[in-house]
Amino acid sequence: MATWPATARYGLEAAPGGLALVQDLLNTVAVDGSGHGDLLAGPEEARAWAEAAGAGWTAVTGQPVPPVALDADGLEELRAFRDDLQRTTSQALWDGPGDGAGPVPLVLHCTAAALQLGEDGVVRLEPRGAGWRRLASLVLLAAFEAQRAGTRHRLKTCRAPRCPVAFYDRSRNNSGVWHEVKVCGNAANLRAYRARRRAQEAQEAQETQEA
Ligand SMILES: [Zn+2]
Repeated sequence: MATWPATARYGLEAAPGGLALVQDLLNTVAVDGSGHGDLLAGPEEARAWAEAAGAGWTAVTGQPVPPVALDADGLEELRAFRDDLQRTTSQALWDGPGDGAGPVPLVLHCTAAALQLGEDGVVRLEPRGAGWRRLASLVLLAAFEAQRAGTRHRLKTCRAPRCPVAFYDRSRNNSGVWHEVKVCGNAANLRAYRARRRAQEAQEAQETQEA
């Protein structure tokens, strides 16, 4: 049973297979008011996270992940990579992956991976690079495989303002927008209700003045 430390702290079920690694990296981010800090804030916690996430990857894929060396510079790069992944996850795939038509998009990150033919005849994609780049390669490899399997567009970040939690949408029609409906959905409904109330009160005040 794989444990994904960053996703587990938000009480969420992990995405299926290797996509859970992408989700876990996204969920290393701090959330205001949750009491959960940034798991990539410093080298110590980042190493601990990378080790636990590597164990999670091994548990779901059976593939070993060698320890990743993360220095201060590498950590900064990894956080920047996470930010871009976060931004593109929240904006791009809500309605499912596009057909790839249209202008070629700007490349945000480029990592190396190797295609290998095994003795068993199976072609495998293996991460390449050292330090944070190897981790980024593994994460993009997982995202790529989920894209091919048609599951990646179910990995979303919460629509609530200031809530970047990444969740896997298991709803039948992939219509979920909140990481936790009771918390983030209700807060949004309450805000909308208050806005309607304010508008109504303003209108009533204007009508009283005019009367
Ligand atoms: Zn949320």
